[in-house]
Amino acid sequence: MTTQTITKQNGQLKVPAQPLIPFIAGDGIGPEIWAAAQPLFDAAVASVYGSTKAVQWLPLLAGAAAFKATGEWLPAATLTALKENLVAIKGPLTTPIGGGHRSLNVTLRQKLDLYACFRPIHYFAGTPSPLKQPEKTEMVVFRENTEDIYAGIEYAPGAASQKLRALLAADDQLSKVRFPTESAFALKPISKSGSQRLVKSAIDYALAQKLPSVTLVHKGNIMKLTEGGFKKWGYAVAADYADQVFTWETYRQLAKNDQAAADAAYKAAQQAGKLIIKDVITDNFFQQALLAPEQFAVVATPNLNGDYISDALAAQVGGIGIAPGANINYETGAAIFEATHGTAPQFAGQNKLNPTSLILSGALLFDYIGWPEVAAKIRQTIAKAIKNKQVTWDFATKIPGATQLSTSDFGAYLITQL
Ligand code: NAD
Repeated sequence: MTTQTITKQNGQLKVPAQPLIPFIAGDGIGPEIWAAAQPLFDAAVASVYGSTKAVQWLPLLAGAAAFKATGEWLPAATLTALKENLVAIKGPLTTPIGGGHRSLNVTLRQKLDLYACFRPIHYFAGTPSPLKQPEKTEMVVFRENTEDIYAGIEYAPGAASQKLRALLAADDQLSKVRFPTESAFALKPISKSGSQRLVKSAIDYALAQKLPSVTLVHKGNIMKLTEGGFKKWGYAVAADYADQVFTWETYRQLAKNDQAAADAAYKAAQQAGKLIIKDVITDNFFQQALLAPEQFAVVATPNLNGDYISDALAAQVGGIGIAPGANINYETGAAIFEATHGTAPQFAGQNKLNPTSLILSGALLFDYIGWPEVAAKIRQTIAKAIKNKQVTWDFATKIPGATQLSTSDFGAYLITQL
């Protein structure tokens, strides 16, 4: 019997015609949005490939549902299946209070070393947005997913941080802390390897998609060694792509001696269609992302900045209810596609909220496994539903004249639009 497992061989994903793809329906509204999404995925695959291809969905347990069934939040069998099958999709998971996990999502990302959080931001015409021209926000965020505050180490005030304070005192650093014994402390590691594999993913993506720029977003003006390191190491990895990219770092070097030569080199690079690698400080990025979002195509950024940025950009084009995401290790090929919102527990069981975030995450999955026609079909149904004002409660309340559909009816309507 041929294996139906997706594998990575010689740098390429090998996807059988009937791939086994694990899914975690998740907690809260998770099972409802999954129930709306999966039939659409299957119908989209059938509409493109007939009976020659189909996904075999493999249910896995995690989160509160797993805890109820097994007494574990993240059963070992789930992790093993995720490792074996490379590509998976999940709904939101309840974050356990106590019990050894800071967050199950963070644990999953760390256990599988899913270092790139991939969040494309796209506007579907008709989506309610606070902006006048939301269509100008068309970006892809690569957020580092294993370091910075995801690997953050914290110490409570008082006795718990005594050793750390002693170390800082010995290093002549403690005097910087205004209230040392009352302070909680945090360490945020950012490494050269961690930064470079993330920036490399962003550059590879931008080149493959023929996008104009990659922007390194960092707070290196204040945190010179961690955030500043991200920028420095990012530019260093860009140098490996010498003939395909032009960096602001190069521009600044040239401009030190000869401004006109720097301007000419920049112009020539743009005319030659080279990828521009630039950088911006995080606070300025937020301002620019509202004032002139068209400046940015691909954004690469450390973990905490990326957390804020991806939700803020999602809000510009309709909110986390429709924002898709993925966590990817481009070396091993392991990837988990996921709804970017949480479990929305107060809405669980109401068949009311929007399954689009999970559905568009599925579209990303189909792109990733090399079935882009399926992805395009799925996106088309969402575009049509919004254009036809057939939407769930969250949008219906904001679009005049809209028809409010339940989660399940919305999923069924999408299938009629294939
Ligand atoms: P949440 O994202 O669950 O909900 C916040 C609000 O966003 C909701 O009240 C709702 O108004 C809106 N919203 C969320 N999903 C929506 C959808 N599909 N359609 C329309 N509107 C939607 O955030 P929370 O309430 O802070 O967190 C609840 C739980 O989810 C917590 O346990 C949290 O840790 C967890 N969480 C999980 C993930 C994940 O699994 N990826 C992400 C964030 C939070």
